[in-house]
Amino acid sequence: MIKFLDLQKINLKHQEEIETKLSQVFRSGWYLMGQELSSFESNLSQYIGAKHAIGVANGLDALRLILRGYIEMGIMDRGDEILVPSNTYIASILAISDNGLIPVLVEPDINNYNIDITKIEEKITSKTKGILIVHLYGRTVFTDHLKDLAEKHQLKLIEDNAQAIGAIINGKKTGNLGDAAGFSFYPGKNLGALGDAGAITTNDDDLAKVIRALANYGSNQKYVNIYQGLNSRLDEIQAAVLNIKLKYIDEENSVRKNIAKKYIAEISNPKIILPENPADENEHVWHLFVIRTENRDELQKYLTENGIQTLIHYPIPPHRQQAYKEWNDQSFPISEKIHEEVLSLPISPVMTEEEIEKVIEIVNGF
Ligand SMILES: *Cc1c(COP(=O)(O)O)cnc(C)c1O
Repeated sequence: MIKFLDLQKINLKHQEEIETKLSQVFRSGWYLMGQELSSFESNLSQYIGAKHAIGVANGLDALRLILRGYIEMGIMDRGDEILVPSNTYIASILAISDNGLIPVLVEPDINNYNIDITKIEEKITSKTKGILIVHLYGRTVFTDHLKDLAEKHQLKLIEDNAQAIGAIINGKKTGNLGDAAGFSFYPGKNLGALGDAGAITTNDDDLAKVIRALANYGSNQKYVNIYQGLNSRLDEIQAAVLNIKLKYIDEENSVRKNIAKKYIAEISNPKIILPENPADENEHVWHLFVIRTENRDELQKYLTENGIQTLIHYPIPPHRQQAYKEWNDQSFPISEKIHEEVLSLPISPVMTEEEIEKVIEIVNGF
């Protein structure tokens, strides 16, 4: 059985380093807001190239806190609109509605599954205050035109970088392309902790300060509260693990790139549409290798029977979820087609050559 993602194997690669460090943290008696967190924040900000990095409890909180920060700063107001792709993981959208902001869905580009930049301007109204782009599956979505558009309409450009840490476009890392970015270090992400963890990066001093307070009960100084904040912390154990794994992210992403390259070169089945391989390989870190076929459920069943575990990212589009029943009648045909047809093949930094070849052979036999 070829696992979709062998997390045990991924983390055991760093077993000695992680166990030694975890034992140090355990014995230190200091478990929150300590050296490991500040060191991770400094390493992450350096890696991304952004001035500030703030560790938080998870990726959803990272996005929630960015938007909440803009509300506290008076830049956004409840009832304002934020543009977001209709094809994304639900957390991108939850972060918006959780803040009393209105998510306005924009259809994706069928070739790369990311927000269709040419469809953004028509959705901008006097209420629009931001664009939340999502580098879905690890594929960057960014153009100078997008940046100009945000500037022209005075919109904050926010990145959901949960799936694309390490990707580079126009010489800049994702997480440093707009005004602020949210990261997730959920165990299955390219940089995964041993539990929940997340972070925010930004070059905006004021926003960073507000977010630090918001994530700490709304307080910059013990027992003095300026905002009605929350508790969203990245603990020392997770920060220690992330500090170790961050050193290997480029190496691990490049293994993913090589697997993707091989899949694209060698999977040839007329029933299957392969993901677009960007001309510049830095623009994709292959968090997921997503293929598309009209016979998706049949293909998944066939792969399972042949010992290959696959997943669907994602089976139900956000506008068809019960959680957003007010959107259930709306139509986003491209997004719907993607949700009906996509299937994610195994890809990870620990797949063996044999496993990769078996996936190719079986997929070609469908
Ligand atoms: C994983 C993910 C999130 C949420 O991160 P958590 O750490 O699970 O809260 C948000 N957006 C996208 C695109 C994700 O893939």
